[in-house]
Amino acid sequence: MTTTHRLCLVLGDQLSLDLASLQGLDAERDCVLLVEVMEEASHVPHHPQKIALVFSAMRHFAQELQQRGIRVHYVALDDPRNTGSVPGELQRWHSQLQPSELHLTECGDWRLEQSLKQCGLAIHWHADSRFLCSRGEFSRWAQGKKQLRMEFFYRDMRRKSGLLLNGDGSPVGGAWNFDADNRKALPKGLRPPAPARFAADAITQEVLALVAKHFPHHYGRLDSFDYPVTRADAQSLWQYFLDWGLAAFGDYQDAMASNEPFVFHARISAALNIGLLDLRQLCSDVEAAYGSGTVALNAAEGFIRQLIGWREYVRGVYWLKMPDYAHGNVFGNSRSLPPFYWSGETRMNCMRQAIGQSLEHAYAHHIQRLMVTGNFALLAGIAPSEICAWYLAIYMDAFDWVELPNTLGMVMHADGGYLGSKPYCASGQYIKRMSDYCTGCAYKVSESTSEDACPFNALYWHFLMRHADLLRGNQRLALIYKNLARMPESRQQALWQRGQHLLATLDAGQPL
Ligand code: SF4
Repeated sequence: MTTTHRLCLVLGDQLSLDLASLQGLDAERDCVLLVEVMEEASHVPHHPQKIALVFSAMRHFAQELQQRGIRVHYVALDDPRNTGSVPGELQRWHSQLQPSELHLTECGDWRLEQSLKQCGLAIHWHADSRFLCSRGEFSRWAQGKKQLRMEFFYRDMRRKSGLLLNGDGSPVGGAWNFDADNRKALPKGLRPPAPARFAADAITQEVLALVAKHFPHHYGRLDSFDYPVTRADAQSLWQYFLDWGLAAFGDYQDAMASNEPFVFHARISAALNIGLLDLRQLCSDVEAAYGSGTVALNAAEGFIRQLIGWREYVRGVYWLKMPDYAHGNVFGNSRSLPPFYWSGETRMNCMRQAIGQSLEHAYAHHIQRLMVTGNFALLAGIAPSEICAWYLAIYMDAFDWVELPNTLGMVMHADGGYLGSKPYCASGQYIKRMSDYCTGCAYKVSESTSEDACPFNALYWHFLMRHADLLRGNQRLALIYKNLARMPESRQQALWQRGQHLLATLDAGQPL
């Protein structure tokens, strides 16, 4: 029997051949361990498509390693010897193989990393080189700052990467950020491309059957799974976006439309987050598309900003501030998440559309998450832990490092403004401007206090009134509070009462 020198554990969101822990493997003496475990699949009720994606991509990755001559030990979920947890499996294989060294790339989840650090085994930890900014580099950048701002971090990442820079180091186009050009609603008659779909091969079909059997109580459809599970298919999805989506992505990245779950979005976030795509490659492809004149600067810059700005920034905040960050609740919210978040059964068309497509595809784009489902949770005072667990469960691309700061910080402002400078609260007018949802809604977006008035309208003012002590001094909300102060007392009272009524309806467990 071959003795094992190095045992490399690769987690389900680390499926990259470029991982530092996989470099220099000796095919004779080293081996890789991949484990499907119940604890990671069910500590929140992950969408069945997300579990299928991770398990199927893991199985394909194991094949890819084996084809390169690397020894792989693979533990399937239904293996009777499976202990059900990552530390449990690492301990079991450590005692079986007796390796000289254990290697692991740092985790994407503080909870899992802690449990591995406490499992009694000496692990050689490797930084996750898939990211542009290491945990240490972010921590040095944040040092001494009372509040962090993504914009300044992003400029540093542009300088570091050299992306979209002129020869003198200034930004191409004369500005760092073209976000103001990225907020158009979808014009009538403009149809986004049909989504690229990927058929399930034999491995994926086996995984789909496994997931259907073991997770029947998790929320979301499994039979609409059409996501890439291999590096080659993920690359095809990316190329499809470059060919058909990127040029219009800039203008319409904030637009929402009924029955258009993806609009012009790339839908690559899940593939990127589990390691099937490479951040630097994506950025250089987008820069090249701009350089060749096939896409405008606001599209290229907007996409690159999401990747090397926001995505890296939230990861930095997560590792800087955990574990305390997860307990942030500056507004003292305690309301339970309404059951319609798990069913989509609500008369609010915007919520029905955003939740419905999330259940069907495990996907909604950033504005649907921030300004529809997230905005409602913020205005309704939902407990941050409950809405965070929902986002983590329901979205295929949601892993703790990216979900928690986005939800707790940006959506819920529960960190008191550490991550973002103001709460992203909005009335129904924003949703009306950016979508066609209101035309198909049982509520009237033009009304605020009547029985069939849009719930977002009164809840928006109720939120601002009930948190005036905390928020009135925020410069970015000054105009809004000025408008509130100018409102007749009777109008303020009517909005408050309508807000109270809506919250009481939620507290009674009834849908809106
Ligand atoms: Fe949403 Fe209000 Fe518009 Fe209905 S009227 S779709 S609840 S914003």
